[in-house]
Amino acid sequence: MSSIDTLWSKITDEIKSNESDKFAKMFLSYVTPSAIEGDEFVMEAANGFCRDYVEQRYSKLICRILSNQQPALKCKLVTRAGKTGQPGAESKITQPVLPTIVSELIVEKPAKPAPGKYDGMFNSKYTFDSFVVGKSNQFAYAVCQSVTRNPGNLHNPVFIYGGVGLGKTHLMQAIGQELIKVNPKTRIAYVSSETFTNEFIDSLKDKKAEAFRAKYRKIDLLLIDDVQFFGGKEQTQEEFFHTFNELFQQRKQIVLTSDSPPDKIQRLEERLASRFAMGVVVDIQQPDLEMRAAILKKFASKSMVEVPDDVIMYLAQGVVSHVRALEGAFNSVLAFAGIMGKPISKDLVDQVLKDLLRENSGGKISIPWIQKRVAEFYDISEDELNGKRRSQNLVLPRQVAMRLCQIFTDASLNQIGERFGGRDHTTVMHACDKVNKKLKQEKDFHDEFERVKRFVDPDKQ
Ligand code: ADP
Ligand code: MG
Repeated sequence: MSSIDTLWSKITDEIKSNESDKFAKMFLSYVTPSAIEGDEFVMEAANGFCRDYVEQRYSKLICRILSNQQPALKCKLVTRAGKTGQPGAESKITQPVLPTIVSELIVEKPAKPAPGKYDGMFNSKYTFDSFVVGKSNQFAYAVCQSVTRNPGNLHNPVFIYGGVGLGKTHLMQAIGQELIKVNPKTRIAYVSSETFTNEFIDSLKDKKAEAFRAKYRKIDLLLIDDVQFFGGKEQTQEEFFHTFNELFQQRKQIVLTSDSPPDKIQRLEERLASRFAMGVVVDIQQPDLEMRAAILKKFASKSMVEVPDDVIMYLAQGVVSHVRALEGAFNSVLAFAGIMGKPISKDLVDQVLKDLLRENSGGKISIPWIQKRVAEFYDISEDELNGKRRSQNLVLPRQVAMRLCQIFTDASLNQIGERFGGRDHTTVMHACDKVNKKLKQEKDFHDEFERVKRFVDPDKQ
């Protein structure tokens, strides 16, 4: 018989082993195993939000681990009544006192229905329905949708390219899932180019080349994600060339994604590059402000949490890069609001983003961070810094902040302008020129600028 602590550490170890789940550690620190009462393993969550979150996210997993360890045990998750201390939490957050609500977790029964052929192949969230369409992706979206109406005949292959986190994989999976819906008998192979490569190499090693060929040539739909990784792999390219031709001749639909257009993929044979471009090549661009807001609204409606419009806008302005970052930031805001028992507000977004944006951008400095620090340095408010007023004490800090955004971030002039109250890229360009000129001409300003820079990026000093 395992003790309560052993069981709990088995559960937490497994949950935390999923590194892409950023919140696991945080949430689990708000849950304690409290007792084994009869045939129930009882866990206490610090508040209702944690309880719901853990229940939604981890109940199946917890039940599975428990039933492996002690099949007779059921699990039960309750909110801690009126207690305020949090296990393992370092922060001084005070928990709101919530009434006890008992929520039973459903224990998975061993007799599961036979898995469908494509269970687990796709992420059920990646559908056309959940995809927000805007200027930056409408063409790609339209092409992908049309493919599902007439696979193999209309556009073949479909080649989707664009930067990381912009929805290429999402669209590709949406095609797969839609085709299964229309015709459950559709035979699909969906892999990354890396998996394809590894399987190919293994098939040579294990002398199973025929089986490998059959797997990829006797299908109706071939989805290969991130084909840029074929670059430099000559033997795999050779094999893929034949796979491609075979399927193409049979009018089977092929969909490929990549981070760059076919002719820009490094060390990709010309004959493959030209085949990739034979159907339709579509790109997905970075979402603009309006679309970022639309995406956030979609996330909000799905999460069933009320997020005020001004907060949506604020967040959309705060995260410019890609949709994945937007999703991460949104989830963090919800998680923090829930855990701290606070309403979702701009202040809360600030708190979360200050740390998260730096983290998310791989230690890079974000535009809101620059704005915040520059405003602090010049002792003006951020609204004044980003606003329309043109008094001299505001104009210079604003220009300095814009120039620093250019120095510290990858944002385009347009994107920077957008975040300074929707200004035009020419305004940003003018501001940067002004600062550069002043730097050359005025020693005092030069020193001041260095001080602001240090203030914005203290780690560098
Ligand atoms: P890529 O393959 O281009 O790197 P993904 O398809 O993995 O990007 O997208 C990253 C995340 O952003 C996913 O969770 C995806 O669902 C989400 N996402 C991307 N674009 C959109 C969009 N237009 N609407 C809704 N969600 C999106
Ligand atoms: Mg992808």
